[in-house]
Amino acid sequence: MIGITPDSIPDDLFRVLFEKSPGSLLIKTDAPQFTIAAVSDAYLKSARLPREAVVGKGFFEIYQDDIDQSDDKAARKIFSRVIRTGDKVDVPVYRYDIFEANADHKTPHYWSFSNIPILDSRQQVAYILSTFTDITGEVKAKEAAQESEHRLLLAAEATGMAFWELTLADNAFSYSQQLLDIFGHPTGTNITLADVRAQVHPDDMENIVMKAFENALIDGGYFYEVRVYWPDRSLHWIRTKGTVQYNKNKEPVRMLGTIVDITESKSDEIRKNDFIAMASHELKTPLTSLKAYLQLMETKLSGTTDPFVKTAVVKSGNQVNKMTALIHGFLDLSRLEPGKLKLIRTTFDICTLIEEVLTETKILSNSHSIRFEPSGESNVNADRAKIGQVISNLVNNAIKYSKKGSYVILQCEANDGNVIVSVTDEGIGIKPKDQEKIFQRFYRAEEDEQRNISGFGIGLYLSSEIIQRHKGKIWVKSIEGEGSTFYFSLPVNI
Ligand code: ADP
Repeated sequence: MIGITPDSIPDDLFRVLFEKSPGSLLIKTDAPQFTIAAVSDAYLKSARLPREAVVGKGFFEIYQDDIDQSDDKAARKIFSRVIRTGDKVDVPVYRYDIFEANADHKTPHYWSFSNIPILDSRQQVAYILSTFTDITGEVKAKEAAQESEHRLLLAAEATGMAFWELTLADNAFSYSQQLLDIFGHPTGTNITLADVRAQVHPDDMENIVMKAFENALIDGGYFYEVRVYWPDRSLHWIRTKGTVQYNKNKEPVRMLGTIVDITESKSDEIRKNDFIAMASHELKTPLTSLKAYLQLMETKLSGTTDPFVKTAVVKSGNQVNKMTALIHGFLDLSRLEPGKLKLIRTTFDICTLIEEVLTETKILSNSHSIRFEPSGESNVNADRAKIGQVISNLVNNAIKYSKKGSYVILQCEANDGNVIVSVTDEGIGIKPKDQEKIFQRFYRAEEDEQRNISGFGIGLYLSSEIIQRHKGKIWVKSIEGEGSTFYFSLPVNI
């Protein structure tokens, strides 16, 4: 409490000091009048009033106590409280609407309103020092933030989206209530990060979640779709998307993101894949017999002199081979669902495998100069058939996307615990913007040169899935118009 003698208030120096203070009024406690004894320049400026209109006037002559009198925030009640108790009274947010410059109606204004008692020599409250600070901007910003948070929550509720946040130092996990719905728990249940992780299908936990978590710490993004078991053992699909926040030293401190239940759309996808698998499987049988008949025909016609019949049989055979390869691609695609692509690992020399694939390729097409010089033996522990499929995809693409007679060069080298295989062509090349996308499912570059080249955009997607399941990497370097080199690496010791 400030103890000054009221008689000293009219002092000139004090008046000047007071007038320069932030938005303050000095109010005499002569209730019900509450005469304003002094006012600061800052106050006059924010109230848009001249000094003569304020000093010497009763507080309520200028300001109608327009807040409901029963409200504890009403100015008269506040003044009475200061006088009665001799204590300072603060009103953090006090609404008093004022006219803006040139406006014909009042607009809402918010003030931080503080009232300090000033005692006379008899220890009675003789004056109240009232300070008003205009906090309309802050209040409106807070209201806008609350409003947008509210809207976000409504949108999240409507779309069934849950928010989560993970503090990395202590694994503190917080989440919005929708997360409980998504993981099959009643509202209000307390769950930890360990509980959530325990619900993820073990295969997806190892192959997808832990990998995504490690990657997120490096590249800052987080995205995956996995299967989760509810407490009633029913199986659901979720999709989570998130981002990592870093401190000043660029160390990851927090992760935050969203989760949605995608069981329904995933079931549609699985049904579609099952249909493709079934249809492809059914198509395989007639194609196999068609191929057998064509081969028989070729043998029977070996003596014929009709050049058309001869080439027609060979061309038909080639088309059947193409169709068989496409159907195999679809079958493989449908087997890619989590849990369906099982790796059968053996230890084998990858150079021998490359040679085998090339022998097969050369039988089917002799249009290119394919070179491979093995650099000794390179043993890997992997699924031989699937790695063979990857090599075959890359070699076939190199042939497909380059001119007849050009070179296709394969290399294989051991490097820092990995075996790196590369396939280089002198073909049409790939634009930088496409290079990131060609490993996605069904993605094909839309180049004029490739209009007449058949394909569905699944070969590289399949190859990349196979390599990733082996904990390896696949990538491309390419210059448009000059050619491409596709690489994949496999860890030697798993
Ligand atoms: P497809 O060849 O059936 O379209 P892929 O998944 O094997 O499917 O390849 C995806 C896309 O990547 C192709 O459509 C093509 O645009 C591009 N691509 C792949 N390999 C090469 C290559 N060696 N040279 C140029 N473009 C390539």
